[in-house]
Amino acid sequence: MELIKKVARDLLESKYAIAFTGAGISTESGIPDFRGPFGIWKRDPEAERRAYKVYTKFLKDPREYWIEVQKSTIYPIIDKALPNSAHRALSELEELGKIMCIITQNIDGLHHKAGSKNVIEFHGSVSKLRCICCGSRFDKKEFINLIESGRVPKCKICENFLKLDVVHFNEPIPPDIYIRSFNEVMRCDLMLVCGTSAVVYPAAELPRIAKRYGAKVIEINLEETTLTFEGVSDYIIKGRVGEILPKIAEEVKRSKKE
Ligand code: NAD
Ligand code: ZN
Repeated sequence: MELIKKVARDLLESKYAIAFTGAGISTESGIPDFRGPFGIWKRDPEAERRAYKVYTKFLKDPREYWIEVQKSTIYPIIDKALPNSAHRALSELEELGKIMCIITQNIDGLHHKAGSKNVIEFHGSVSKLRCICCGSRFDKKEFINLIESGRVPKCKICENFLKLDVVHFNEPIPPDIYIRSFNEVMRCDLMLVCGTSAVVYPAAELPRIAKRYGAKVIEINLEETTLTFEGVSDYIIKGRVGEILPKIAEEVKRSKKE
């Protein structure tokens, strides 16, 4: 309880706090993470090797890429998932004026579904398609019949092949997203890092940059991470985000009333 009070106080004293979230914030919505104690890659290391080849597959043969996407077992799980109490607590903290932005590594859209407004999807979203040539994004729904009939979607602006907006391993972060994230990180004086192992780069640079430029970095995670060991985080609250974040939101609300 002491740590909950401490993080609530830190949030109340901050001028511009942001959250940085990872797969761990969505495990309580039924979407498995990669490297947590019950992560997909802990159980199936071959899946990790396949993940590194997806982007090259798109570049070489977009039709093959879309066949792979259609076969994926994770996207249908994400489509059906609902936000949990951790997503809702962050949305509440935004409404209270205490979290100004969420930078998420997740592709599941659950922060939007929970009502958060200023969300940067660092690794894109499963519900959109993106053109790697001109950067245009489109709602996946517009193309769903075409994709399901085995054809490859094309950009309405430049006619090049479209891929999912999801940033795959070995794929560059879209520049608009990179610049927006960087600006938020440079501006924040507190970063709440929720449910990420912080080993996927360049996303993992963000808390490290925040720290280097003077922000307080607070982790919420089931276990210690490289951020804990490297001394990037000022402190860690160990436990489930779905339990801890609502308590923090409650404490912030209570202290604001006093
Ligand atoms: P990761 O799998 O590497 O690490 C997840 C972290 O969350 C672990 O440190 C784990 O201890 C912690 N965790 C798990 N459940 C938790 C809980 N209930 N409460 C607190 N902590 C919890 O995930 P990552 O760091 O986000 O990197 C994986 C990459 O894969 C990301 O870039 C992301 O794009 C992608 N990914 C996304 C989703 C999604 O959209 N939901 C799911 C899996 C992977
Ligand atoms: Zn285009």
